[in-house]
Amino acid sequence: MVNWEYSESIESQDIVSIKDKYQNFVNGKFQQPNSKKYIDTISPSSEEFLSKIVISNEKDVDTAVQSAQMGFEKWENTTPHERSKYLFKLARLIQERSREFAVLESLDGGKPIKESRDFDLPQVAANFFYFAGWADKIDLSWGAKSLKPYGVVGQIIPWNFPLLMLAWKVAPALATGNTVVLKPAETTSLTALLFADLCEQAGIPDGVVNIITGDGTTGSLIVNHKDINKIAFTGSTQVGKLIQKSLAGRDVGLTLELGGKAANIVYEDAAIDQAVEGVVNGIFFNQGHVCCAGSRLLLQESIHDEFITKLEKRMQTLRVGNPLDKNTDIGAVNSKEQLNKIQELVNEGVSDGGKIFQTECELPGNGFWFKPTLFTDVQPSYSIAREEIFGPVLTTLTFRTPQEAIEIANNTEYGLSAGIWTEKGSKILWTADRLEAGVVWANTFNKFDPASPFGGYKESGFGREGGRHGLLSYLKAES
Ligand code: NDP
Repeated sequence: MVNWEYSESIESQDIVSIKDKYQNFVNGKFQQPNSKKYIDTISPSSEEFLSKIVISNEKDVDTAVQSAQMGFEKWENTTPHERSKYLFKLARLIQERSREFAVLESLDGGKPIKESRDFDLPQVAANFFYFAGWADKIDLSWGAKSLKPYGVVGQIIPWNFPLLMLAWKVAPALATGNTVVLKPAETTSLTALLFADLCEQAGIPDGVVNIITGDGTTGSLIVNHKDINKIAFTGSTQVGKLIQKSLAGRDVGLTLELGGKAANIVYEDAAIDQAVEGVVNGIFFNQGHVCCAGSRLLLQESIHDEFITKLEKRMQTLRVGNPLDKNTDIGAVNSKEQLNKIQELVNEGVSDGGKIFQTECELPGNGFWFKPTLFTDVQPSYSIAREEIFGPVLTTLTFRTPQEAIEIANNTEYGLSAGIWTEKGSKILWTADRLEAGVVWANTFNKFDPASPFGGYKESGFGREGGRHGLLSYLKAES
């Protein structure tokens, strides 16, 4: 029997200096907000205090929007070539300071350093490089006269990929000549505030990037501000719907990237070991904290038992614990509220009749943790098969024919992504053609590239981020 115990290998925190308290970044500098309300931001893996962030009020939102309006006058008149240079500068600074960002992301958000260092940060830099490359080619691609930037864009992002979601939003907005007011999630604001530091370092003109912290009320104030020209939102379907209602009848652009319940379809002719690894990657390596997490495993009946045996064995080797330990596979859940939500849905899965398997790992005493969990004997009607869980919880369903796999996979109000596992190329194409999902991976999962558009079908939202489509989301027809 292989021993999976390793010695600890903890990433040092010394590289990061966290202030006791943060102000908003507006008009090119950190400024005293009007609001006197601050909240603590803690590390979800230890519950230790990290810093205080402001809950911005109406006046603060107004100040940020005004700053972005003034910034727009300058930014719009900067040459595309200049804008490109600024974005390249940001991309290079991110690379230079990536270790600092990765440690802070893991401390503040709970995700393993392996993920923040090897996935999030390289992707963040890649997005800035990619859109920097586009900034001076937009005129050539679409014709200079036909499209123009929206102006001031309000960007509201969630806690699962704090800095990466910032990159997905800020880089294309700036490349197309817009200015931004960005609000990170209240539990994970620190890397966005460190990014503000980078904007100062890169000499981004004042008012072009404004970062204000706050809660849902602050988000809603941004959405409802009279001078906002576009909103780009990533988060829950519930809040996405509220935003859409608020903007009805207003001349404000909108893109929504919302929830998901991705299906990973494994056919009997798949390379089983590779598929087990891919399924583990699709749900557990990111703690299920992605809207595109492959949280529904669809197994062809004939391979069900063999697959589950191998999967459970692999799950037992997953290491849950300190996010700063380089050997950790699964870090902390982002907040107590999120942990409660996961627990509630898992309890419901058990009472509905699902068979639960959890690994034998020991969970740390402090912080918010959830064991890697697998459900079998699940009916498509159970809430664990329908609702987005956002935790390391995988639900298994079975099918007999490819047609049935498609029916089950599409039987959801979401449609963000899906995976297909088979050795037959023709089956990949047949299946992908019929799946209602924005992204379909074949014999792999969770692979991202800034050049590839990402976004949803149905209640997973609309609009695309990444690639040329992502640029178009920040441009509108010249009137
Ligand atoms: P929310 O949709 O509540 O939050 C996303 C962002 O919107 C945060 O910055 C949040 O602020 C802000 N916000 C909250 N309420 C409003 C509002 N009324 N108007 C404008 N902005 C608002 O998602 P949660 O973080 O609470 O996660 C809940 C669920 O959403 C998850 O369990 C998951 O199912 C789904 N989700 C999907 C994501 C995706 O990538 N598609 C990402 C994250 C969550 P604050 O955090 O400060 O409250």
